[in-house]
Amino acid sequence: MVERIPHYIGGRRLAPAKSRTASVFNPATGRQTGEAVLASTADVREAVVAASGAAPGWAATTPLRRARILNRFLRILEDRIDELATVISAEHGKVFSDAKGEIQRGMEVVEFATAAPQLLKGEVTENVGTRVDSHSLRQPLGVVAGITPFNFPAMVPMWMFPVALACGNTFILKPSERDPSASLLIADWLTEAGLPEGVFNVVHGDKEAVDALLTDPDVQAISFVGSTPIARYIYETAARTGKRCQALGGAKNHMIIMPDADMDQAVDALMGAAYGSAGERCMAISVAVPIGEATAEALMAKLAPRVRDLKIGPGTDPEAEMGPLVTRQHLEKVQGYVDLGVAEGAKLVVDGRDFRRQGYEDGFFIGGTLFDHVTTEMRIYREEIFGPVLSVVRAPDYKFAASIINAHEFGNGTAIFTRDGDAAREFAHDIRVGMVGINVPIPVPMAFHSFGGWKASLFGDHHMHGPEGVRFYTRLKTITSRWPTGIRAGADFVMPTMR
Ligand code: NAD
Repeated sequence: MVERIPHYIGGRRLAPAKSRTASVFNPATGRQTGEAVLASTADVREAVVAASGAAPGWAATTPLRRARILNRFLRILEDRIDELATVISAEHGKVFSDAKGEIQRGMEVVEFATAAPQLLKGEVTENVGTRVDSHSLRQPLGVVAGITPFNFPAMVPMWMFPVALACGNTFILKPSERDPSASLLIADWLTEAGLPEGVFNVVHGDKEAVDALLTDPDVQAISFVGSTPIARYIYETAARTGKRCQALGGAKNHMIIMPDADMDQAVDALMGAAYGSAGERCMAISVAVPIGEATAEALMAKLAPRVRDLKIGPGTDPEAEMGPLVTRQHLEKVQGYVDLGVAEGAKLVVDGRDFRRQGYEDGFFIGGTLFDHVTTEMRIYREEIFGPVLSVVRAPDYKFAASIINAHEFGNGTAIFTRDGDAAREFAHDIRVGMVGINVPIPVPMAFHSFGGWKASLFGDHHMHGPEGVRFYTRLKTITSRWPTGIRAGADFVMPTMR
């Protein structure tokens, strides 16, 4: 039975009969489980009208009351985390424990947003001039939209809407059409927590829905996370239509292994960071850079058997370390990159292309794959693969390693494994990447810091959540006032200066 997956507009689920649809699969079995309705321009307009109607009331709701609703939502998430993780695992394919992990990281942003009264405090200066005071405050933008990728169907929306709502905006989420169901549970639970109708809406869709959001005059800001070509398109279009925009793109994250690194620790870190979630993470490590031949040999000796031994299975298997890829199309793309790496002359040390799991022959599985002797001219090095494929680029020295990271098109995350404080400090200071780990392979900032890459990994001025999120979802107003009004200053025809 294929379930029809509706929009959520104005506080209710809605599936227009004549909608185009997108098939949703269980990646472990390869079977279709649902069809998401795809929004037309008119459907998106309906969501914008609902969000616009709710905006004045929500903006006027005190930050403390908004925070209380988010607090209730947080408790619901805590109680029902397994239900949401089950839905994520069934449509995305990631293992259940990993699905719970992404919800946990999203909940941390909700926790951050429950500090709304504190986050929205302004600044005051008394006596900027004689009997003149100034204060600045941050006000909501109005209707804002979030467009999100398939790989974190709960966490990435939660990078956006908790902060947007805490700041007094109303929100339209356009989740990935490949795993759309998590967003509906979230919408239901926000309503249950007391969020008024129209404050949070979900429209499923593809380019038509995205373009409708980008060109609707009542949408004030767009947050986007996805691949770089679409991020660039979103940013350029939003700029043309006069909207505030933050558009996060793709990645190719390198991890340097210095000769003095604890090799067991580095290999453990690489296994999780390269193969966790089948490499479908924007912060996955996809390039390992050992420094010197001896380090490279020691790394390969420990890494290759671990990659061969990866436990791969459906998300429901508690033993599985890694699940299938999200769709057959994506599987074919990743397999194509492995073929390409071989053709380009990289050494294929572990080949995941023939992986089969009994009982799941039609699932979108690929085994862990490891390339050695990858060079920087190869397309498998330059392009984002977004699968469980790790490339090893052997570097003669640290300088070479840092130079290739700095020259790479992407600049999302990077890491160094070393016991040398000097090298670690130099790396953190000089590397041209937005998020840096020192003996931490996936340095995703906590909710009260902000998340974002550099170069082709982020278009716009603001990173997500944390203080940058509050700045993105508010605009600054500065008020200068003189009391009492009875004092006459006289007419002044020169630029006002405070005396
Ligand atoms: P994607 O770019 O295909 O899709 C992202 C969103 O854009 C989806 O909602 C999709 O419906 C929409 N979209 C797709 N094609 C479009 C088009 N032509 N016009 C307008 N909208 C369109 O990305 P994906 O495959 O869902 O996700 C994987 C990508 O996301 C990877 O590149 C990954 O690195 C990136 N990502 C980046 C971050 C980050 O923080 N930088 C985080 C997670 C994922």
